[in-house]
Amino acid sequence: MNSKEIREYLGRVQESGMLSHAYILEEENGQEAEALASWFAARLECETGSGCGACEACRACSQGNHPDVRRVFHEKPDSIGVEEIREQLVDDMPIRPYWGPYKVYWIPEAEKLTVQAQNALLKTLEEPPSYGVILLLTANADKLLPTIRSRGILLKLTEEERPEDLLPPEDRELALSLLRQAGQLTVTQMADGAKALRERRVPAAGLAALVRMYLRDAMALKATGRAELLRLPEEQAGSRELAERLSFGRLRQAFEEADRMESRMLSNVNYELAVELLLMAMKA
Ligand SMILES: [Zn+2]
Repeated sequence: MNSKEIREYLGRVQESGMLSHAYILEEENGQEAEALASWFAARLECETGSGCGACEACRACSQGNHPDVRRVFHEKPDSIGVEEIREQLVDDMPIRPYWGPYKVYWIPEAEKLTVQAQNALLKTLEEPPSYGVILLLTANADKLLPTIRSRGILLKLTEEERPEDLLPPEDRELALSLLRQAGQLTVTQMADGAKALRERRVPAAGLAALVRMYLRDAMALKATGRAELLRLPEEQAGSRELAERLSFGRLRQAFEEADRMESRMLSNVNYELAVELLLMAMKA
């Protein structure tokens, strides 16, 4: 499934009240799974249940300081130890949510969980409290114990569209030229850029997908420094500048802003305003 399909699936599951306590997001390369986990956590905590981006809970999520959302961190680069899982998840989960309806834990690089750590996690997965949701992010779900795998719903993230399929060349170049300069644009230049996009009738879905690709590259560079993961290698200078200028939290916020831009455009909210709000999030 691509990212959009997974989002649609998770959205439906949430709305139907059939939420599982564990999801395994498998993605070979890249940083999309992180963005997905962040999106889903915000949606679960959102005061309107939609990930509106505007309520206090959504804002706290995008700033990384919602008390009921935890991204499990680990000290050693190559392993996530049993103590880390106990302290950050197993012992914390029984404490009821402080603010929102759920407690959401996301574990990046879950393939690095030691066997001991996985066994500790398993006990929680066997009898989770009703409000507990665990998101395991991994490059390879086969490296998890079968007992863990059987308790989670596996969602495989596959490659998205190629950049050249998203927009016609002239539209793509216009959009990229704005993204490249995002840090330096004045408010007037943002408005001019948005107007140019509207006049060309650049389609919302392709534009949003291109922006997400660009931002994902910036996140990948920030996380790994490795250029070989980039989907838009020729835009490296721009995505690197963005990675250096913005924090992870701000990058995630801009990423979420790309989603909002798309839905604003599709719901006929002012096209130019939708673009300007995105550009402002990238300038921040
Ligand atoms: Zn909200």
